[in-house]
Amino acid sequence: MNNFSKEVMHVGEMASGAALTVPVYRIKGDSDAPSVYIQANMHGAEVQGNAVIFQLLELLKNIDIKGNITLVPYANPVACNHKNGEYTLGRFDPITGVNWNRMYHFDESIIKPFVRDSIGKDDATIEANFKQLMIEKIEQKLEHNIFGLTTGQRIAYQLQRLAHQADLVLDLHTGPISSKHLYCPEYAQESAQYFDIPHTLLIPNEFGGALDEATFCPWWYLQEAFTELGIKFSISSKALNKESFTVELGSQEQIDLDVALDDAKSILAYLQYKGVIAAPEYQPQVMTRYGCYLKDYKAYYSPMGGMVDYLAEFGKPLAAGEPLARILRMDNYHFGTDDETENGGPLHYLSLDHEVLPILHFASASVNQGTELYKVFTNFFEL
Ligand SMILES: [Zn+2]
Repeated sequence: MNNFSKEVMHVGEMASGAALTVPVYRIKGDSDAPSVYIQANMHGAEVQGNAVIFQLLELLKNIDIKGNITLVPYANPVACNHKNGEYTLGRFDPITGVNWNRMYHFDESIIKPFVRDSIGKDDATIEANFKQLMIEKIEQKLEHNIFGLTTGQRIAYQLQRLAHQADLVLDLHTGPISSKHLYCPEYAQESAQYFDIPHTLLIPNEFGGALDEATFCPWWYLQEAFTELGIKFSISSKALNKESFTVELGSQEQIDLDVALDDAKSILAYLQYKGVIAAPEYQPQVMTRYGCYLKDYKAYYSPMGGMVDYLAEFGKPLAAGEPLARILRMDNYHFGTDDETENGGPLHYLSLDHEVLPILHFASASVNQGTELYKVFTNFFEL
């Protein structure tokens, strides 16, 4: 196993002086095949990815590895340890309230000057220079920021420095109570069929601070800037191959090592397709895969407070008018039908007026009016 190594990355310090560290596992490939960066647990309660990384490491011991692979479990030690009672919080920095997965960096203004300087150079040189530029920009942020960084930025930028070194990036998350789903850049739609994930969100070229966007948007902008000048530079070509995904592995607050083994095999099928590994035994499963554009991914907010009985099954198209959930309001329970009608009664069925594909729902049965109850695909289609 001399191509396997482990390093401990220092990402911050607690008030007591205790070091915040993240383990980084690297496997060296034996060729210049595409490289991959995989991290898990940026959000504290989304722990299944750690189990998937465990299973990946176990499987990779017996696989012919072509491209470099970097694996980072427990990517955010602050979020990972952020408990309140029996629950893990860890979606937002408790001090600033900012979502931990909105702190990555990309400055679009680097694109135009870079393209101007790159005209006439070959693709491989452009690729190497652009990678270098992105890493330099992150290092500048990390090391030459006289006003300092927030706790979250310091963690995010160090992870991003590792991610920029790879061609392919997988950020492992989970939903609250959720089906498996994939955030996939629109240009990489073809790759979605290599994951054993039945639901894919196709996302546009808009940077909002997440790791997947921070790693694919720069390349997509670069391609577009060249295209505007009539120069062909394809980030989907075999030679360049730049893709990033957020992989939503199911529900928060739980790990399942058997499911993690399936998830690891699904990732290996994708890596096999991309040539990162030479292991043709890993192939995607045959399944119906649904796609949906991000603009058609809708949150449904509870029209009332109450106790929710979630009815709609994930991944099964729900016809218009069929109940999504029913809400129990015991304060409206009366011994007399007159009162019942007046107050709306104890049971309320919630439905939508068009067909949807339920993807995830809120983690608790008690909700306030306006709570994000379900997230659903609308205008979905088979991939
Ligand atoms: Zn997440």
